[in-house]
Amino acid sequence: MNLDWANIGFGYIKTDKRYVSTWKNGAWDEGGLTSDDQITMSECACVLQYAQTCFEGLKAYTTVDGRIVTFRPDLNAKRMVDSAKRLEMPPFPEERFLDAIEQVVRANKDWVPPYGSGATLYIRPYMFGIDPVIGVKPATEYQFRTFVTPVGPYFKGGAKPIVIKVSDFDRAAPHGTGHVKAGLNYAMSLHAIVTAHEEGYAENMYLDPGTRTKVEETGGANFIFITKDGTVVTPKSDSILPSITRRSICQVAEEILGMKVEHREVLLEELSDFAECGLCGTAAVISPVGQIDDHGRSICFPSGMDEMGPTIRRLYDTLTGIQLGLLDGPEGWVHEITV
Ligand SMILES: *Cc1c(COP(=O)(O)O)cnc(C)c1O
Repeated sequence: MNLDWANIGFGYIKTDKRYVSTWKNGAWDEGGLTSDDQITMSECACVLQYAQTCFEGLKAYTTVDGRIVTFRPDLNAKRMVDSAKRLEMPPFPEERFLDAIEQVVRANKDWVPPYGSGATLYIRPYMFGIDPVIGVKPATEYQFRTFVTPVGPYFKGGAKPIVIKVSDFDRAAPHGTGHVKAGLNYAMSLHAIVTAHEEGYAENMYLDPGTRTKVEETGGANFIFITKDGTVVTPKSDSILPSITRRSICQVAEEILGMKVEHREVLLEELSDFAECGLCGTAAVISPVGQIDDHGRSICFPSGMDEMGPTIRRLYDTLTGIQLGLLDGPEGWVHEITV
């Protein structure tokens, strides 16, 4: 594939093959690859009326020695089972999820960006209720699909720290669906993110809706904080989406870098005590946050607005080093796709 990898950006680019499996009469069919990127469904499909859909997101990379790998796809498979159950959808079996990813990446191997380009192949598994439902109840037919699309480097010309705001909107109710990757969590976040962008902010910091005193996460990434004495702190709440990137960073910090890690409630009030702040997710791995605005008060981290703080940089370099085959990580983290 002869694409300008550094400049493809983050839009959808149609690739050759995608995977489809259908649930009907109480079972998943055997599934397989198709070239057809279009979906035809009833005007009354459950997903269109009641948003019965969930998704996953992971990436395939080319390593330094030319292998194509994915990062901890078993955790995406598990998380999608959790999401499906919470939305009353039939879980797609974990081993079949892994097989679907293998098949799609292999079939689109020419779309996997080369090592060193900074670009990656984004993998999007998702499922939805497809048969007509007008009274509120779960669908009885579902599709599980996976497509891939190449995405450009997240940080063009270095990772510049961003400015975010404490949002007046809430992302996830206590005992709601914040901990699963449901499309509905994103539908209701669109107004908040458009508003934040209009005000000049890159992201929203959402607080716990119950007390509005505790830090939850952004619309699509978990927070990581570094204390002045070098401890990694990540917010704990039942309504935060369990980011695989964040969990991996904490394990890297503790087991490889010998750092102290705390997973606990983080108060809005204590933010000004931290030395560094970042956002963790598959897309950017870690985006540094330089400033958080809270209704007229600005919290400016000592790491500043020019570059990543030193501790977040170390975590970023270690995790991306493992993903790209430059460093050895824990057993089973890097999953090779034989082509
Ligand atoms: C997907 C997602 C993340 C990041 O999870 P990763 O597994 O690290 O990609 C964080 N927060 C929300 C709300 C998400 O949907």
